[in-house]
Amino acid sequence: MAPRPEDLPRWRAAGKISAAARDLGVRACVPGALRREVAETIEAFIRSRGAEPAFPSNLSRNSEAAHYTPSADDGETFREGDLVKVDVGAHLDGAIADTAITTEVGGGRRHDHLRAAAHDAVEAGIGAVRAGVHVDDLSRAIEAAIHRRGLKPISNLTGHTIERYLLHAGKSIPNASGMSDERLEEGEVVAIEPFATNGAGSIRNGPFGNILRFRERPGPGDAAASRWFERFRTLPFTARWIEAGEREGLKRLRRQLQSYPVFVEAGSGLVAQEEHTVLVTATGAEVLTRT
Ligand code: MN
Ligand code: MN
Repeated sequence: MAPRPEDLPRWRAAGKISAAARDLGVRACVPGALRREVAETIEAFIRSRGAEPAFPSNLSRNSEAAHYTPSADDGETFREGDLVKVDVGAHLDGAIADTAITTEVGGGRRHDHLRAAAHDAVEAGIGAVRAGVHVDDLSRAIEAAIHRRGLKPISNLTGHTIERYLLHAGKSIPNASGMSDERLEEGEVVAIEPFATNGAGSIRNGPFGNILRFRERPGPGDAAASRWFERFRTLPFTARWIEAGEREGLKRLRRQLQSYPVFVEAGSGLVAQEEHTVLVTATGAEVLTRT
């Protein structure tokens, strides 16, 4: 269900907090910074603004397209020239925003072309939004913007509608044309997230990216699981957010938890992503995650 009109102020506030967290994350991605500390800085900021992270900060690098969050003991640091997708989100009582930008660590310019393609594409997608529009019109605009830069969209990653406590709701927004028969409706909240690559144009599943999600409410009788479910509901979370002494308990829940692999570019290409969450209006889009 799309948000109720009386709840829209909460969705807008979540959008503003998410945008500020994204930009803070970009500033924190400097050579030598610990990946884990960057994620924790982003998530602490979201909590300091009275929200909760809607999912663990994704800090995927280079040919990793998405779904990497640092583990609790991650000791890796960012290096000059790393192409980092800072993909973050906050929620206020289930009102979620989801936004991403790609930064080059150290402020160099070697990846500007890829970053520009992702930027052009998200703006082209946003520019096509209005009530009743065919989703495929967005997909064609996204794809064309990336092709104009001589690059490929990642065709098996999509944007998505968002509902309360549901990050990936019913509709997908493909980044390639000819894949959707749906239309957008006024009042829907939609994340538009093109990925541009100089590789194969698709992703394969890589190793576990430290992101988990409850498939459903756990049964009674497991106090820790019930406590975690009350906290995270069906939103993605990570063991890093759980007390060190309790993390072992997650292993018991293997069947109740969905675990996400890192999405890696199938041709080992570099990947840039840009994402905004928008509200569909009668005549266009209200972008909730601009700063
Ligand atoms: Mn995202
Ligand atoms: Mn998203």
